[in-house]
Amino acid sequence: MFARTAFDRILRRAAIAGRSVPADIGIRDGRIAAIETRLAGEAPETDLGGRLVLPGFVDTHIHLDKACLLGRCGHNHTSLASAIKAVSELKRDFTADDVYRRGAQVLEKAVLKGTTHMRTHVEVDPRVGLRSFEAVRRLKNDYAWAIELTICVFPQEGLNNDPGTYELLEAALRDGADLLGGCPYTDSDPKRQIERLFDLAVQFGVDLDFHLDFDLDPSWMLMDDVCDQALRRSYQGRVAIGHATKLSALAPDAFERAAERLARAGVAVTGLPSTDLFLMGRDATHNAPRGVTALHKLVERGVCCSIATNNVLNPFTPFGDCSLLRMANFYANVAHVSPAGFDLCIDLVTALPAKLMNLKDYGIGAGKPANLIVLEASDSSSALAEIADVAMAFRNGRRTLIRKPAELLQPSTLSRTGEGQTRAAR
Ligand SMILES: [Zn+2]
Repeated sequence: MFARTAFDRILRRAAIAGRSVPADIGIRDGRIAAIETRLAGEAPETDLGGRLVLPGFVDTHIHLDKACLLGRCGHNHTSLASAIKAVSELKRDFTADDVYRRGAQVLEKAVLKGTTHMRTHVEVDPRVGLRSFEAVRRLKNDYAWAIELTICVFPQEGLNNDPGTYELLEAALRDGADLLGGCPYTDSDPKRQIERLFDLAVQFGVDLDFHLDFDLDPSWMLMDDVCDQALRRSYQGRVAIGHATKLSALAPDAFERAAERLARAGVAVTGLPSTDLFLMGRDATHNAPRGVTALHKLVERGVCCSIATNNVLNPFTPFGDCSLLRMANFYANVAHVSPAGFDLCIDLVTALPAKLMNLKDYGIGAGKPANLIVLEASDSSSALAEIADVAMAFRNGRRTLIRKPAELLQPSTLSRTGEGQTRAAR
């Protein structure tokens, strides 16, 4: 039995994965103090009525610095090269305040959609210098009340071919960047970029996250180089690759070999369905390929995977509401996931990306930080199928959002409130 003052807040009747009946969650000092079917104790209570509670969505791959640019550069970018070129030109004029404003818009949307942890990739090169990085560092601090932001600096336009970039990456890592990203496909020497970034990551003791193998030609891949380096540097569990759309073009036997390789090297894969579908398969006149890697099949073969947002309303992806639940639903639909796999699709935006990011304190359990979201669904599978609304969210026990359900105004209700009055009556 807990004393009167044992809790600061109690969430009653929460549906939690792995429990057959709803349970009560007691929160104290920003942490989950107890989870029991009928928790004794007095504290301000919120009755969740059997709604699903998750530890929040985890977005491992988003670009805050180049989000919300469509109004500046038109909508007619249908190739990766033209999207990179458009942003490259705009980037020279980015100010820290401009990046901050656009990043804040995206962060607020993401929080409202239940995202509690996010890894943002940030471009660092001689065109933009450290301005975007500085803005994102401010965002990390200013939005810490709602979301944990991790900063991954990377050379979008190449490393070996872009003098000054390496020194800027070093400066950002000295100045608070959390990890290092890569983009070998724009480099004059992709393999050398991979090697140099591993050197730099080892030097600073940070994880790595590459944009990699982003086309549909399976005849060559850089994945093997990244796996080799991860094994050679004992970096298993610390490296991720994003896109990896080439994997979607592999025949089954080659796919099995690639999955085995990734699992053995401890290299994780992030799928970015919205961008991958928007940019891949543009050459096809009909029966266009999907170009989305089968993440659920990789997970079944022991590879850590995540589904992430990537770009929001820019030349790479002219879509985006920052909802990871919508993205997981989108993935399930595109990748032919059957209802038996819907729970795994929820894992792909929660527990698995938390593992990819090596988040130590993630999850629902006694002693963990009270970072929780409540969905308008009773279980994961229906939350995925229906893209359930996020009803509320908590960070360190403090409520960070409430969404009230929309209300239908049926005719009987209308007449009672006077809104259904006929013109004559008025
Ligand atoms: Zn990206």
